[in-house]
Amino acid sequence: TRDPLPGLPHRALTLDRVSPALKTARRRGRRAAALYIDLDRFKQVNDTLGHDVGDALLKMLVAALRGALRATDTLGRLGGDEFVVIAEELDGPQDAARVAENILNVARRPFDAEGRALFTPLSIGIAMDGDPDEDAAALLRHADTAMQAAKSGGGGTYRFFMPEMNAEAMARLEIERDLRKAVDAGQFVVHYQPKFAVDDLRLVGVEALARWRHPEKGMIPPGDFIPVAEQTGLIAAVGGAVLREAMRQSVEWRRRGLPPLPIAVNLSVRQLPDETACLPLLAVIEQEEADPALLELEITETTMMDNIRQIIPALRRLRDAGVSIAVDDFGTGHSSLAYLRKLPITTLKIDRSFINDVEDDADSAAIAATIISMGRQLGLHVVAEGIENIGQLAFLRRHGCDMAQGFLLARPMPAAELEARFGDGAAWRRADA
Ligand code: C2E
Ligand code: MG
Ligand code: MG
Repeated sequence: TRDPLPGLPHRALTLDRVSPALKTARRRGRRAAALYIDLDRFKQVNDTLGHDVGDALLKMLVAALRGALRATDTLGRLGGDEFVVIAEELDGPQDAARVAENILNVARRPFDAEGRALFTPLSIGIAMDGDPDEDAAALLRHADTAMQAAKSGGGGTYRFFMPEMNAEAMARLEIERDLRKAVDAGQFVVHYQPKFAVDDLRLVGVEALARWRHPEKGMIPPGDFIPVAEQTGLIAAVGGAVLREAMRQSVEWRRRGLPPLPIAVNLSVRQLPDETACLPLLAVIEQEEADPALLELEITETTMMDNIRQIIPALRRLRDAGVSIAVDDFGTGHSSLAYLRKLPITTLKIDRSFINDVEDDADSAAIAATIISMGRQLGLHVVAEGIENIGQLAFLRRHGCDMAQGFLLARPMPAAELEARFGDGAAWRRADA
């Protein structure tokens, strides 16, 4: 394999450099730090512009970095687009922060890669020497952990390692390990939160919400495991299990003679990497003998718009099969009106944060009202979520919103409870609010 960056110390060599640096620092009463650097969008550059452009970019970056570092700093490459700077002769963390700032400044200017202006935001994690018996490997590991924290905060910045990050990383690892078993053991439970027509509070649908019944930790909310499932590629299995259970439930209600009840299931964009990814979803509906017309898939606005080109073909196929598509947490992203018209979507769900504030924040009220009227003009259903009081419901009535969902009307609940509270022989009961 060719090395686009000859002359840069590699992983082993870099590690060799760390221990003496730590020792010297200690002896002289100075500090040393490892700065772990990762390019935020290198894969994208390689994928879209090709490896030659990627290599050229790395070369320019390294040259620029060298110019920004001090004589006492060592630059090494850990592989791929990951670099490390061992900074010595520091008085304290503030000096390490300055080194990080200098590095980030380098990356704020565009690089000219074969005639293209490329920006390469970086994430940097800093670990200071501390512990007398901390070895080089541990220091780099801590810097790596801090880098990942910088990246998960959006990138383009630096973070110092903090011991809590280890605890968080451990907790995530544990969840990841247990999650793999949970898929096979069928530990996912689906709760259903009713949606009601705003005008007469009749039950018009439910949203399926995943819970994980962990054998030791009890019920785990989706916010604690969906992101891990997304990052580890387990989301297809988890999401598939939730969809299957929801479809099974839909058919069971039909067999009991209850009127058809639309079910909304949340979908991660990671479940739609390409057009064919909709096939296993459609297969689940078919295998459970469910009615696709009763299924709505919810995708959050931000992730939908960030991946729109990638997911449109799959969304079209799902629409063609009769499945509805809702844009979840709408209002927080940056959809353009012109664009929305072209998307194969059926429903907008106004984000809870706007509903929460409609009574005392004029901006939120204006946004909610605008979404409602815009949705109507585009021929879309509009659902408001997070209704917690009568005032918010009155606001929705005044503005002609179709549907409402929220703790005021009903919380998410197991299917059996939903039947007990809202099933009335061969009909669904209204809410009372
Ligand atoms: P979401 O799709 O926006 O779901 C609505 C969330 O708001 C639910 O939280 C629900 O319990 C909560 N909620 C509903 N009404 C109220 C209210 O009046 N006040 C307040 N404060 N909260 C209310 P939950 O069940 O914890 O779900 C959180 C998020 O997790 C969901 O947000 C969804 O994005 C994600 N999620 C849940 N299940 C799945 C799943 O099966 N697959 C995927 N990919 N994501 C899921
Ligand atoms: Mg949702
Ligand atoms: Mg939502």
